[in-house]
Amino acid sequence: MQGLMMQQPLLVASLLAHAERHHGGQEIVSRRVEGDIHRYRYRDLAQRARRMANVLEGLGVKPGERVGTLAWNGYRHMELYFAVSGSGSVLHTLNPRLHVDQLAYIIEHAEDRVVFFDATFLPLIESVAPRVKSPKVFVAMTDRAHMPQANDLTGMLMCYEDLLELHDDVFEWPLLDENSASSLCYTSGTTGNPKGVLYSHRSTLLHTYAAALPDSLNCSARDVILPVVPMFHVNAWGLPYIACMVGAKLVFPGPALDGKSLYELIEAEQVTLSAGVPTVWQGLLTHVGERQETFASMRRTIIGGAPCPTAMTAQFQERYQVDVLHAWGMTELSPVGTVCSFKPHQLSLSTEERYTVQAKQGRSVFGIDMKIVGPDGEALPWDGHAAGDLLVRGQWVTRQYFGAGDGDASPLRDGWFPTGDVAKIDPDGFMQITDRSKDVIKSGGEWISSTDIENVACLHPEVATAVCIAARHPKWDERPLLLIVKKPGSALGGGEMLAFFDGRVAKWWTPDAVVFVESVPLGATGKVLKNQLRDQYRDYYLSA
Ligand code: ADP
Repeated sequence: MQGLMMQQPLLVASLLAHAERHHGGQEIVSRRVEGDIHRYRYRDLAQRARRMANVLEGLGVKPGERVGTLAWNGYRHMELYFAVSGSGSVLHTLNPRLHVDQLAYIIEHAEDRVVFFDATFLPLIESVAPRVKSPKVFVAMTDRAHMPQANDLTGMLMCYEDLLELHDDVFEWPLLDENSASSLCYTSGTTGNPKGVLYSHRSTLLHTYAAALPDSLNCSARDVILPVVPMFHVNAWGLPYIACMVGAKLVFPGPALDGKSLYELIEAEQVTLSAGVPTVWQGLLTHVGERQETFASMRRTIIGGAPCPTAMTAQFQERYQVDVLHAWGMTELSPVGTVCSFKPHQLSLSTEERYTVQAKQGRSVFGIDMKIVGPDGEALPWDGHAAGDLLVRGQWVTRQYFGAGDGDASPLRDGWFPTGDVAKIDPDGFMQITDRSKDVIKSGGEWISSTDIENVACLHPEVATAVCIAARHPKWDERPLLLIVKKPGSALGGGEMLAFFDGRVAKWWTPDAVVFVESVPLGATGKVLKNQLRDQYRDYYLSA
């Protein structure tokens, strides 16, 4: 027998309509690239998003087509989140930390029709524009007075506020199929080029419900949320959508992610909940510690993207009474997978025991199934000891990458998505990552492709073999370490090797050090045994 309930599609625009109707007076505060603080309310956001939807129509953007953004966290970016997805096109957030070659690849691959950018990224846009066939329209997210000079973009450059001026705010959000695409985010491939994860309206809405829950990111109308995690990095972990759903005040940090700027914003706007990677929080804690400051309003902080060190958890909780929510996720998971919130019986544990729990990445939010498997694919027990490949499935987990052809293999294994993380799970269901099987480096929350580094190193005429591995780093969590076997008779030095990367990769991708070795361990098929090298050199930067 069929249920007799309405079939109301789950759509991104409905989040905005809800926020406008029920929380129209709630504030959104942004530090702008122009340098000042901007503030307005959800009702202004909704009105300007509708105008922007008219702008997109005027620019000829069709449903399903991609619209790129290269921008910090701010209100104009938020307007695009809803204008683009709400009108049926696909919001493609671009990561400005990527090398220009990769950005050009991603823009071409996604076939972006228009790219919106913060004025600070003009040099990047000027480098990208001649390398891509489309788009031919670049919109600077600013007003006439702050328009950047860009001779190279003549005929292609438009001004955000000027475009808005041309249109009114009468726009009906279309009743889309909830399974249609809403946004697109590329993640570093372990081999080859970055891969696009294409979210749907349905997956985004279901993720929003689940991520907002008290035992997930714990967001409410009484919160003032500061997403430090960028809106170009997995939709700022879904916080722009969550804030609309619950009606929370939003505070956007713009480009100023240093400890001092964040602290000032947190205090001035009475932020209660923030979210970011450990590296960012380290900067904040250093600033606050040096000045013996305290947090007047902040009560919780979500830390993810990389393991949260216990020392950081302890500092936040003991010194500043800010609860740490350690979370794990992936671009392919929209991103929330697990959150480390206590079960009732854990509240009576000793402080030390609770830190042991909080070092774990946490338990599944409803909607994410997980399992760990051994080398033959057999499920391993949740005993807190057995470690294996972590697989997940759920309504907001990707099943195929964007643009994959019919012949391309699905990334799934028997319907499960292999995360590339190695984990153990305890009897309470708390997952803890113990290793990573995917061959990438995560530095300050962003990916570096070890394959790309190796390929560049091998272009040097005196390099016989190059291997790049992740080594632990006190500030960036991980940094690339390059191991080189030189060609016979070569006098290649470390400085020369590192200088070779100049201009060939983004600056922050260049390894911090080179170790020259006689040989590297090889497996039966001639593949480099990176695990062995990782074991040997993992602490290289800690002991250096
Ligand atoms: P995000 O940075 O938002 O988590 P990415 O797709 O860039 O999303 O990275 C996902 C990967 O980052 C995970 O597969 C895992 O390797 C690592 N990661 C994410 N969160 C954590 C965490 N809390 N602890 C350890 N590793 C993490």
